[in-house]
Amino acid sequence: MQSTFSRLLSVARPEKKPLLWGLFFLLISSLSALAFPQIIRWLVDSVLTPKRNDLLLPVVAALFAASVLQALAAAIRYFLFTFSGERIVLKLRQRLFEKVLSQEVAFFDFNRTGDLMSRLSSDCTTLQNTVSVNVSQGLRNIGQVIGGLGFMFYTSWKLSALMLLLILPVGIAAALFGRKIRSIAQNFQAALAEASIVAEESISGIRTVKSFVQENRESSRYQNSLQQALTMAKARIASISQFMMVLMIVGFAAICFVLWFGGQQVLSAEISVGDLTQFMLYLMLVAIQVGSLGSLWGDLMAGIGASKRVFEILERDSSTLDQGMTLAQISGHLRFEQVSFHYPARPEVEVLKKIQFEILPGQAVALVGPSGGGKTTIGSLLPRFYEPTSGEIYLDHSKLSELKPSWLREQIGIVSQEPVLISSTIEENIRYGKPKSSLAELEEAARAANAWDFIMSFPEKMQTRVGEKGIQLSGGQKQRIAIARALLKNPKILILDEATSNLDTASEKLVQEALQRLMRGRTTLVIAHRLASIQNADVIFVVHDGQIVQKGTHQELLLQTDGIYFQLLQKQFQTLSAVEDQS
Ligand code: ADP
Ligand code: MG
Repeated sequence: MQSTFSRLLSVARPEKKPLLWGLFFLLISSLSALAFPQIIRWLVDSVLTPKRNDLLLPVVAALFAASVLQALAAAIRYFLFTFSGERIVLKLRQRLFEKVLSQEVAFFDFNRTGDLMSRLSSDCTTLQNTVSVNVSQGLRNIGQVIGGLGFMFYTSWKLSALMLLLILPVGIAAALFGRKIRSIAQNFQAALAEASIVAEESISGIRTVKSFVQENRESSRYQNSLQQALTMAKARIASISQFMMVLMIVGFAAICFVLWFGGQQVLSAEISVGDLTQFMLYLMLVAIQVGSLGSLWGDLMAGIGASKRVFEILERDSSTLDQGMTLAQISGHLRFEQVSFHYPARPEVEVLKKIQFEILPGQAVALVGPSGGGKTTIGSLLPRFYEPTSGEIYLDHSKLSELKPSWLREQIGIVSQEPVLISSTIEENIRYGKPKSSLAELEEAARAANAWDFIMSFPEKMQTRVGEKGIQLSGGQKQRIAIARALLKNPKILILDEATSNLDTASEKLVQEALQRLMRGRTTLVIAHRLASIQNADVIFVVHDGQIVQKGTHQELLLQTDGIYFQLLQKQFQTLSAVEDQS
């Protein structure tokens, strides 16, 4: 908890100046609030007597002036604190987002999108409320409580001391309640996050949901998780309301006690009526402030719960710092040396087992084999999305692990089965490969990717929006945009992961043509399950169960009639002729 406060303080540091000004206005508004009871006592004891009624107007005017001053100062304080709070949280959000982006790919195997989203949105909002509104209100409350208590002691120390004795146990109760509320609040935020995970998953998989007619199931899944959050919320609100009730009873008890004890003092002429009135007013001021401190305490605890979730990510060290060598020029020579690998999320399954191969510059190498064999995984080790668990990969005789990840990724182009486009225009998607490319380069890339004609057939041409993940385009169109994007990027190394497997024959031909152009002069790793498309590869590796079980050219592999390649070929031939028989 201590560290949470110091963390929050450290994020607030850049806002020191406005916050200090806020404190200044806080002081003014608190002082003028504290002046009220003084003026009232004066009114009761000295003005509201038959002799001095000429003073009534000036005193009431002074009262009004004090209230205007208070209102002004309070407004300025609110503005300064709240706006600083917004700025603090904006920066925090930005940092959080950058931190999330800088995490290694494995991090996203463990953390679900919805959870990260809710940390960015609802946790940050809760935090914002804490650092701005709550802190400012809390400071005001504390200021007025201290001031009010001071004046109470000044008016009648006997009465005040007795009061404090009564209130002390409440303070202890408050601390205990706070702890309880805090843990409930943390659970509540987690439950909310869980609900947004569910929503995110259903919405992003809407086509699957609809095609299996699972809307009701998804909706009740969402409802269940909301219900969980509601249960948590109920527990939290119940504790807060109990707490408020106790506070109020204690408050009224104190008031009654003062009326009884103070009334006796007035009757025995120990204090004046004005003194008692002033004391009561201070007491009410203090009671109200303590009461709202109670609910603020709850909010503060919620803020701390949220901040834990935010700082948990912020304080992660990105295990893949973007550091390392860059090479001035590369030829695209690749070598896997005894590479073994298991995914961090599933350490018990060895996905790659001592993989060993070499690809010469400019060669096109095909990886084929049964699904789940580890082909895509081999492709993800090249851009260092994951690090091998043992063994080493070399690019032009430099260890991949010593190369700067961002530089390395610039040298690699990837076109996969499901090319993910960003939700923007076609132009921006193609430019993603090279943001500063000219219009001529853009057109050249689009033409080479066989994408130019269909882009020009859209009414908005390059400015056509593609929808989320490119949902408004056909598979072949998306693929050709992804190829244009890779062409613009002009990488030395290319990974084509089942780039044509989702397409019909007509668009496969267009895509295949574009791919041929893309592959020219680059070291290429083609992953394909349709063997017809890789027969021209320089070498074919057959990957099975994390190992390379066969290698050779198409012709060479054809001769090994007991090999997996031959089996795969036969199977595909059978299905092909079966399809042809039917049509
Ligand atoms: P292929 O591309 O040859 O079909 P993959 O390389 O995609 O095979 O997968 C190889 C194995 O690794 C599979 O058993 C798969 O379940 C597993 N796998 C793939 N991605 C992950 C991941 N992110 N986390 C854990 N296991 C994974
Ligand atoms: Mg795959």
